[in-house]
Amino acid sequence: MRANPITPTVDFEMDGKQHGHLRLPYSRNDSAWGSVLIPVSVIRRGTGPVALLTGANHGDEYEGPLVLFELAHSLTPDQVTGTVIIVPAMNFPAFLAGTRVSPLDQVNMNRAFPGAPDGTPTQKIADYFQRTLLPMADLVLDFHSGGRTLDFLPFAASHILEDKAQEARCRAARDAFNAPFSVEMREIDALGMYDDAAEAIGKTFVTTELGGQGSATPYTTGIARKGVRNLLIHAGILSGEPERAPTRYLSQPDDACFHFTAQGGLVEFLVSLGEFVKPGDPIARIWQTGQTGSAPRSVTAQRDGILMARHHPGLCQAGDCLAVLAVED
Ligand SMILES: [Zn+2]
Repeated sequence: MRANPITPTVDFEMDGKQHGHLRLPYSRNDSAWGSVLIPVSVIRRGTGPVALLTGANHGDEYEGPLVLFELAHSLTPDQVTGTVIIVPAMNFPAFLAGTRVSPLDQVNMNRAFPGAPDGTPTQKIADYFQRTLLPMADLVLDFHSGGRTLDFLPFAASHILEDKAQEARCRAARDAFNAPFSVEMREIDALGMYDDAAEAIGKTFVTTELGGQGSATPYTTGIARKGVRNLLIHAGILSGEPERAPTRYLSQPDDACFHFTAQGGLVEFLVSLGEFVKPGDPIARIWQTGQTGSAPRSVTAQRDGILMARHHPGLCQAGDCLAVLAVED
């Protein structure tokens, strides 16, 4: 396969602390031999576990970038055993635009794996992670939240995997993160996900959904800050005591957890995140926006569970995922 065109300006094998870029050539009208400079930090002291920490896989999710720019600034090599590789904004063009997918190619980074060295900018970044960064790592943490169009209960997640020993490692890392909720997550569209790419080559992988609505709050940012420190302690990279609080365990037994709407309109949620519903309970009503006088359409629960995620903001389109349920274990 062709070599990836990205050049790192940091040395992943060198002890100390380095700030640099993953330089992706991007030739265009306003910069003939230009490039995209994706910030990266490497903090390393000796041999030991390697953690790869990423934010802004989707460009409109902020807890990851916030705590990873902070960590890159504050973490020192003497605090570390092994290596911490930090990429606060994995899909940097999407992050700068404040959008889920890249404005350069309209590609969703988390559906672009394994990527392509001769593909679009997002596919090239994915290929670099797939073939260069992921193989270096023992532990991979990828921060997500709901972005502009979803809102989540704050959770860390792991997946059901064929390799049960790996599944247990991922679950232990998820629990070490210690978000208010810990989820065994079901994916509706796993093809091309970074999660899958990391898990398929045996990595200990943790992801999160920490809120949403296209912003971050002190509460969700605090969860992210605590979680990444706890996880690095769990991995043996940082020393010290983890900060523990109670967590609630959720799982998603089947596809009935996901509620899609066939109609667009004005959404009125009747339950809040974290509330319990029984099968048939109304979750939301959708009002027609084109005229007055019509009764709203009701969206009812397909199974029991607590509302783990909901659509945001106030209007929806046909096909939107309106509500996601999970079951407390
Ligand atoms: Zn995301």
